[in-house]
Amino acid sequence: MKRSVPVNEPLLDGNEQRYISECIETGWISSEGPFVERFEQAMAARLTRRHGIAICNGSAALEVAVRALQLEPASEVIMPTFTIISCAGAIVRAGLVPVAVDCDPLTWNMDVSQLAAAIGPRTSAIMVVHIYGLPCDLDPILRLAKDHGLRVIEDAAEMIGQTYRDRPCGSFGDVSVLSFYPNKLVTTGEGGMVLADDDMLAERCRSLRNLCFKPERRFVHDELSSNYRMGNLQAALGLAQVERLDTFIERKRAIGRRYQELLSDLPSLQLPVARTDFAESIYWVFGVVLDDATPFNAVEAQKRLAERGIGTRPFFWPMHEQPVLLEMGFFAGTKCPHAERIARRGFYVPSGLALTEEQQELVSAAMHGLF
Ligand SMILES: *Cc1c(COP(=O)(O)O)cnc(C)c1O
Repeated sequence: MKRSVPVNEPLLDGNEQRYISECIETGWISSEGPFVERFEQAMAARLTRRHGIAICNGSAALEVAVRALQLEPASEVIMPTFTIISCAGAIVRAGLVPVAVDCDPLTWNMDVSQLAAAIGPRTSAIMVVHIYGLPCDLDPILRLAKDHGLRVIEDAAEMIGQTYRDRPCGSFGDVSVLSFYPNKLVTTGEGGMVLADDDMLAERCRSLRNLCFKPERRFVHDELSSNYRMGNLQAALGLAQVERLDTFIERKRAIGRRYQELLSDLPSLQLPVARTDFAESIYWVFGVVLDDATPFNAVEAQKRLAERGIGTRPFFWPMHEQPVLLEMGFFAGTKCPHAERIARRGFYVPSGLALTEEQQELVSAAMHGLF
């Protein structure tokens, strides 16, 4: 038995091989190939959206989604500080101003009770990001957005197959975004998708994805974009993966529940919230936070686990503490104590779909060795 446990290994044992072979046999490998639309339609149908627009990765999908909304230049977009840089990047690159909200200390999602105070006369949109396993509390967010006439960008990269009050994550934004990086619930290696219901908005996303070529005069451009297309090989993988999304979700939940059992006797460790009023965690990753009495931080814990062959990743680093964004003049004076704390005390342990029971026990033994 291998004694080391990588932080993530995907499962590719459904129709993946067959569909990829089909690409090669037919010679269809570019974004013009038939799997792209099949994948878009399968994912959109699964998440109850009218349109799916496949993109080369999730970060690019966020850029396309934000730009497609044509928000007032230099207006403000409210976002969680505890997320990946891609979210802030998409806002900044669209010529907009990110405004950060702290996270809830238990679910690590944006603290909805702080949202109203962040809305001001310059606010044009809210970017909702579901973090690690549980969806944000969407009803109050959507109500505030409606009351203030704000657009909603939903980042469901980590929540493919999760639901909020029985409705699929990825179905709530004017534009919603997915990532298919190998650690996500559905993978295409590299890939992403924008989801929308509005026909015009979807058309704008398709145009932005493809250099804003005009149908009537191909090499004459009214707007500058880039090539954000997904190839047929990636889409072939994606289609095979969507077919198995339900079993992937079950598998993730089983891994999460097992860790909850294995690690529940470690009082210094804050474990993920298993369920809220509106969802049961899908444990996209299994995050843990060291309590304040623990005499070492996440970096030290990760180092010790690595010495025992256990792969881990640190928690996100808050957006309002990013040197590059502060340098650009964003988030001046912003304080988000919960995000600042978990960024230093939190990390996540292996939870890929291919993880075995034996590997989980190895992780647990190593975690117990920390204290
Ligand atoms: C993974 C992820 C992304 C970025 O997706 P990539 O495909 O890696 O570019 C964006 N947002 C969230 C919340 C993510 O977890």
